[in-house]
Amino acid sequence: MDKKDNIKQLENRVIELETQIHELERDIIHDSLTELKTRAFFEEELDIYLTAITHNEHGKRKEWFGFKNISIVFFDIDHFKKINDTYGHDVGDVILKKVAKTIQSNLRTGDTPARWGGEEIIVSLLGANETDAMMKAEEIRKKIEDLIFPEAPNLRVTISAGVTSSEKNMNVTEIVKRADQALYEAKSSGRNKIINWSRIKK
Ligand code: GH3
Ligand code: MG
Ligand code: MG
Repeated sequence: MDKKDNIKQLENRVIELETQIHELERDIIHDSLTELKTRAFFEEELDIYLTAITHNEHGKRKEWFGFKNISIVFFDIDHFKKINDTYGHDVGDVILKKVAKTIQSNLRTGDTPARWGGEEIIVSLLGANETDAMMKAEEIRKKIEDLIFPEAPNLRVTISAGVTSSEKNMNVTEIVKRADQALYEAKSSGRNKIINWSRIKK
């Protein structure tokens, strides 16, 4: 092989590696099924926001990001296992995608919906207090209840959610835990409902 061929081979290898890097970056940020952000991306971003809010509240950087609070909505599809068992996993996937799209298309620019895991979708709402977030979650809950799926015409899907708002010096684990506790309450008190953390805190 002459020198020219060697260089060509190396160039091709570099292009291949660059493509692989782009694909890996894309997979770290985007969930392939729902096209929402991944949990890893969501946690990183939320960490930045919470840090910014803490500094804002301490008055160190007044206009940093330009907002004072952030709220979290933790959605989970009701009885999704039964949906899979009844209609099959492929239809389950279609439903999950449509639910994800419905959530995403009802948010404002700057809000972040992410697939937390399985059929759990978490959303951060920039500048929203708990009441704003409750209203938004309720609006989405109603839209999901009204969805019709050609693949399963008789099926009605419902979703439950837990809502909470940031307080100063909160970290990602703490805020998500509160939203999860509120979600648990929504599930155990009947499903197809939204519960805010303030309502259940002891
Ligand atoms: P609950 O109302 O308490 O949330 O009940 P549930 O059945 O939704 O809850 P559970 O967590 O027991 O079941 C979640 C199901 O979601 C089980 C799992 O097979 C299914 N699931 C998770 N990820 C996917 C996916 O990507 N596609 C499909 N089709 N199903 C999934
Ligand atoms: Mg569920
Ligand atoms: Mg679940």
